Amino acid sequence: MNLSPGVAVDAFSFGAVPGISMYFLTHFHSDHYGGLTKTWNHGKIYCSEATGNLVIEILKVDPEYVNRLPMNEAIDLGQFKVSLIDANHCPGSVLFLFETPRYRILHTGDFRASPKQITHPFLHNRRVDVLYLDTTYLNPKYAFPEQSDVVNACAEICVELSNSPSEIERRLSCSGANGTVGIKNLFSAAKGISDKSSQTRMLVVVGSYTIGKEKMAIAIAKALKTKIFTSLRKRKTYACLEDPVLNSLLTTDPCEGSVHLVSLQEIGPDTLREYLMQFEPHYTRIVGFRPTGWNFRPPKAQIIGKGQSAPSVETIIQHWAVPFTSSEMVPARGSNERLMLFNVPYSEHSSFRDLSCFCTAMEIGKIIPTVNVGSPKSREAMKEWIDRWDALRRKHGGRLRTVVPGQTRWSI
Ligand SMILES: [Zn+2]
Repeated sequence: MNLSPGVAVDAFSFGAVPGISMYFLTHFHSDHYGGLTKTWNHGKIYCSEATGNLVIEILKVDPEYVNRLPMNEAIDLGQFKVSLIDANHCPGSVLFLFETPRYRILHTGDFRASPKQITHPFLHNRRVDVLYLDTTYLNPKYAFPEQSDVVNACAEICVELSNSPSEIERRLSCSGANGTVGIKNLFSAAKGISDKSSQTRMLVVVGSYTIGKEKMAIAIAKALKTKIFTSLRKRKTYACLEDPVLNSLLTTDPCEGSVHLVSLQEIGPDTLREYLMQFEPHYTRIVGFRPTGWNFRPPKAQIIGKGQSAPSVETIIQHWAVPFTSSEMVPARGSNERLMLFNVPYSEHSSFRDLSCFCTAMEIGKIIPTVNVGSPKSREAMKEWIDRWDALRRKHGGRLRTVVPGQTRWSI
């Protein structure tokens, strides 16, 4: 993005951009910092404390170029002020609010829209002239549950599976997930586990990116009253985040922490089996979570068939909240009595409904998509929804409804 004068956001892959002297970085994901290396000398980089630490420690960028800014403060940078607001994406991720006496520009980077952002003192009841929007899931097919519901459901299921191994039998019976093992044999095997419950120890493995998705591991570790083990490389990364909660839970002992944070690629039936073997006999079974938003199948009523017209924005906002509890969690194919795998709709990007709620709860002059802008077809489809949000805001005199401070969910 080019912000006049002399400002760019998440635009490192072009090297030195003529006329740009200030480079803003919303968060530490490679599709945003790509191009930033230890030889960077094209201008100052502005970012959050955690992102700045990662840029220096991991990418080895000269600290002279890294300006780590505090959260929730309007920082005067001469031609404009900038404020950093929590983006609810990965650790250290921020929304940038740029302000001059003439205009206010909000850049979301990647974000999971939440009522907390709308009621942030710098945004609450304030107009934004231009909104650069994370449009990763700007399509009604991306209907997935609230992040906190998913996190709670995963923590709950781990407690159930850990306390009562007979729960394994029940879960597997709803899944048809037994792969090559006959369901009857599977049940008798699961019974074997129930009988020896005191001798079984469960290892929980959560897939994550370099950073991102830690919330789930934290919630599970707290619920199981255990610690989190991860690789030395990841521990070095986490040290940069200066997150006291995460730090207090980390351990270097894989047996002390029965929640392991691994890379997402390691979460599959074969890889989990191999992973468990490394820690036998200390652990005798393994539960893996693959958190991703995009492969969630929403309730039937929310699937728009070919040729069907999409519902109104109001309908989506009022009726498309997706309830989610642990009772709906079904083990994935390849699961058995020793190994259970769950694909969970945990997303650190906004669902389509989140985007609709966010973009109609605030007065906005113009919305500019930042993701999926490569094809004219996709740009056209996104524009249609952006125009619908715009029409709805105008119809309601600027914004559709009020979000009140303290509200944690979009009202229904
Ligand atoms: Zn990201």
